[in-house]
Amino acid sequence: MPNRVCLVHYHEIGLKGKNRSTFENQLVTNLHRALRSFELGEVKRVSGHILVTAANGHVSDEMAEAISQVPGVARVSLAYLCGLDHVEYSSAAVRALREAGDFYSFKVHARRSATAYELHTLEINRLVGEVLCEAFPDKKVEMHAPDVIVYVMVVQGSVYVYASSRIGVGGLPVGTAGKVVTLLSSGFDSPVATWMVGRRGATCVPVHFSGRPQTSDTSEWLCRDICEALAPSGVIGRLYVVPFGDRQREISLAVPQSLRIITYRRVMFAVSERIARIEGAKALVTGESLGQVASQTLDNIAAVNEVVSLPVLRPLIGSDKQEIMRRAEQIGTYELSSQQADDCCTLFMPRRPETHARLEAVHAAWDSFDHDAMIGDLVEQVEYLDYDQCPSYRAPKRWRRHHRELGPALSSANDVFDTE
Ligand code: ATP
Ligand code: MG
Repeated sequence: MPNRVCLVHYHEIGLKGKNRSTFENQLVTNLHRALRSFELGEVKRVSGHILVTAANGHVSDEMAEAISQVPGVARVSLAYLCGLDHVEYSSAAVRALREAGDFYSFKVHARRSATAYELHTLEINRLVGEVLCEAFPDKKVEMHAPDVIVYVMVVQGSVYVYASSRIGVGGLPVGTAGKVVTLLSSGFDSPVATWMVGRRGATCVPVHFSGRPQTSDTSEWLCRDICEALAPSGVIGRLYVVPFGDRQREISLAVPQSLRIITYRRVMFAVSERIARIEGAKALVTGESLGQVASQTLDNIAAVNEVVSLPVLRPLIGSDKQEIMRRAEQIGTYELSSQQADDCCTLFMPRRPETHARLEAVHAAWDSFDHDAMIGDLVEQVEYLDYDQCPSYRAPKRWRRHHRELGPALSSANDVFDTE
C-alpha cells in the first residue's frame, strides 16, 4: 500500500509576496509544535500546500485531527503518496474513493505542477477515470457538482491522490499578527474571544484577575484549565494571574457602590495595559458583547476604555450568547466555563450597578484613592504560567535575565519586572 500523508491546504487570499513565505514558514513551525506527540516524518512546503508525513510512512486520523485544529489550516486531506506510474496512482484513486463514504457521482480532477511529466491533466483524468468506472460500475461520472472529487496532484516526481478532506479551523498561523493581552475570566465569552484573535494569527497572553485572597483560587484553576484546553491550537503563550481581592476591598470602601464595577474594570484595564507594554503586546482583547450585562453598555465601555491608550479589541461585540456558547463547545471550553467560580467580578458586587455612568462621577470616584500606586503594586504582584505549545511566544526581555523553575504552581513575577 502506498504511503499515507497529510496535505494541508490554506487559504491564499492576501498571501502575496513576502507575506506568503512568512505565513508558510510560521505554519510549518506551528504544525511541528502541534504534532510533537506523534512520531513525525517531515513537515515541508510542497507546491502551495504543506506536506506532513509520519515516521512509519502512515499518518493517522488523530494526526489529521490535530492538524485541523491549527489556525491557518483551511483543510487537511489524507492522501496516498505515489510515484509517476499511472497504474499505481489509479489504484490509489480506487482506494481513496472507497474510503470516501456514501456517494453516487464522482469525477477526477488532475493537476500538475511538474510540467516535465509526460501525461497531461486531461489524459490523467481519462486514465484514472477509466479505472474508477471499472471499479465502481454502479456509480456515475458527473462533471458538474459531483458528490466526490478524486484529486490527483502531480508534484516534483510524486503523485498525491485523495478524495476527501477534513475542514480546518481556518484563519492565519499564530505568530503572524503580533501579540495581544486578553482579559480572561472563567466565563464563556473571554475564552472564545481569546481563541478568535488567536485564530487570526495573534499570539495571546491572557491575564486573569482573581478575587484571592478574599475568594478561593477556583477561578484561577478554571482559567488554567481553559488555557490548557486552548493550548493545543498554539494560541496561548503565557497566563498571568493578578490577585485582586484585597484591592477590590479597598475600592469598595472608597467609591460609591454603583461605581464599584466600573472602577474595578478601570484598574483591570490599566494593569493589563502595563503588562501589555512589558510584553510588547499591541492591543488588549475582551469578551464584551454589547448590552449583555450592565457593564457592557456603550456609556460604561467608554468610561472604562478611557484609562488605556492601546487599542481594545472586542471580537464578540456583535455576538449573541447562543453563538458564543456554540463556539465555546467547538473549542472545548464550554464545560469549564459552565462551572461556577467566584472571581473578582462576583466579589463586593453592588446591588444596583451603574448602567450609564457619567464621566464626572467616574472621575471623582477614580481620584478618591491612589489608583496609580494600586496599579503599580498589582503589576508587581502578577504571577504567571507558560504554555510551550506556542512557538511564536517570546517572554519579555527583562525576564530572560532570570532563571525560572518550571513547576505546577504559578511563578511569582516579583523579581522579573522593573516596573516604572
Ligand atoms: P465572560 O464570559 O468573559 O466572563 P461576562 O459576560 O461575564 O464575560 P463581564 O463579567 O462583564 O462579562 O466581563 C467582560 C469582559 O471583561 C470579559 O469578557 C473579560 O474580557 C473581562 N473580564 C471579566 N472578568 C475578568 C477577570 N476576572 N479577569 C480578567 N478579565 C475579566
Ligand atoms: Mg464574567
